[in-house]
Amino acid sequence: MSYVALYRKFRPQTFDDVRGQDAIVTTLRNQVMTGRMQHAYLFCGTRGTGKTSIAKILARAVNCEHPDHGNPCGECASCRAIRDGTAMNVIEIDAASNNGVDNVREIVEEVRYRPAEGNYKVYIIDEVHMLSAGAFNALLKTLEEPPSYVIFILATTEAGRIPTTILSRCQRYDFRRISADMLRARMRELLHAEQMFAEDKALMFIARQADGSMRDALSLLDRCLAMQSGETLRYETALLALGAVDTEVFRELLGFLLRGDAGGAIGLLGQMLDDGREIGQLVTDFIWYLRNLLLLLASDASAEMVDASEQEIAELTALRGKVPPETVMRYIRVLSDLQGTLRNATSRRTLTEVALVRICRPQMEKGGEALRERLAALEGTVDTLMNSLESGYIPSPAPAERPEPIKAEVPKEPPAKAAPEDLRRIADTWDTVTEQAKMMASARGGEMSSGFVGAALRNLEPSYNGQTGENILYLREKKPNMLNLNPEKQEAIVIGVTAAAEKLLGKKAEVRLALAGTEHPGLASLNVKEETELSEAEGKLNLGGFVIEEE
Ligand SMILES: [Zn+2]
Repeated sequence: MSYVALYRKFRPQTFDDVRGQDAIVTTLRNQVMTGRMQHAYLFCGTRGTGKTSIAKILARAVNCEHPDHGNPCGECASCRAIRDGTAMNVIEIDAASNNGVDNVREIVEEVRYRPAEGNYKVYIIDEVHMLSAGAFNALLKTLEEPPSYVIFILATTEAGRIPTTILSRCQRYDFRRISADMLRARMRELLHAEQMFAEDKALMFIARQADGSMRDALSLLDRCLAMQSGETLRYETALLALGAVDTEVFRELLGFLLRGDAGGAIGLLGQMLDDGREIGQLVTDFIWYLRNLLLLLASDASAEMVDASEQEIAELTALRGKVPPETVMRYIRVLSDLQGTLRNATSRRTLTEVALVRICRPQMEKGGEALRERLAALEGTVDTLMNSLESGYIPSPAPAERPEPIKAEVPKEPPAKAAPEDLRRIADTWDTVTEQAKMMASARGGEMSSGFVGAALRNLEPSYNGQTGENILYLREKKPNMLNLNPEKQEAIVIGVTAAAEKLLGKKAEVRLALAGTEHPGLASLNVKEETELSEAEGKLNLGGFVIEEE
């Protein structure tokens, strides 16, 4: 048994079947009934709002032998030929793949001949904004003096890219996004026709994801039905079938923001827009994601109030203690401001990018939470400074609450294997490598100042595995409490050193952190030239002769 996708199966066949575009349908229907057709229509609007469906209904209606209240009858020879795609007088063109002057010249040539069958020749040009400038020019001449039997229906998702000379020749129809309620009602109707059921919450979730597009709503519903096992489509199934993609992207976006990586965040935004997401909806959904996160961060018993799957709740809950609620509140505030200005704005993408930069750079803001974040960043710097002082420059007793420094943790056994050549080269030029790692870090911006990376690197000892001798650079933490609380900082260090090492070696390098307090048997120091922790004699003794002598 072959399954027909709901979207194809229930494509509207008459004006009566169309949902959510009442004004447009009424106008077109009246034109068909009174025979006052225009010669050029421009259908604008986001995908899945019914542009092509209505264009096809119109093409059938104007050629139908027995139209019923403006609707095509669906049974006459003309209606059937058009529906089956065998009619010669309805021509569909995808401008995305036929955008050249020659393609349009071909049309212009054909337009001169009357239709062999039916009353009208109808040209439906989809994605018309993709036509080249020359192609638009060639089309313009025909639009200026169209033969009485020709109707052009130009459809586009980007009316802003249509030349004004073309716009002025067309009757323009702006297709509205279809409301979530209407999408839900239509889905319920179709499921009923198929004798299937769904929880209301599931349909509402799909409707929200569909972002005003009937086509998306139905294809998302199809995806959910494919995963469903019982009779009724459950909310959890819908989340599983559709939600994972979005929350994954949002989690990634949140990661960029927390790291202060505005470039990364803007890049990800661009990707999402390229995937066809609408910017306003995207912002709304991300605020919703942050709202869920905030509820889970701020209280223990709020899992029921959170509109998310169990897995998602678990993931968000894991951020407790790592992300301050004040930070999330500030993100929500910036994004809500953005939401307000987006509605009537023309440069929506730029505004959104600016908001992402504002989030990543609290120093650009004057508000209380931003100030608190700046303070926290400063405190972090002070901690780092203190740590680096303690770790080398000023001998001071370890504070009582901290475990003993592990700097004496050099293996008692000499390493079984010699350090790989690559790693020795890194150790030989360790100063250069650290300088470059610092530069890379400050180029990334945000919290990862080169000062922080420098201080962190002074507390890390380049090492290798003396048992296996494998070609992996280990950065062994000499003193605890520097890095182990902050995965983002850990990542910044590893990325910085990896990049610097690869630059030096001219090939891929693998770098791992060996944090204090974690087990890393067999690690041996690569013994950097400027070794201050060990005396020269100890170094020679403990490191099995791999000491590089000072000149
Ligand atoms: Zn008909």
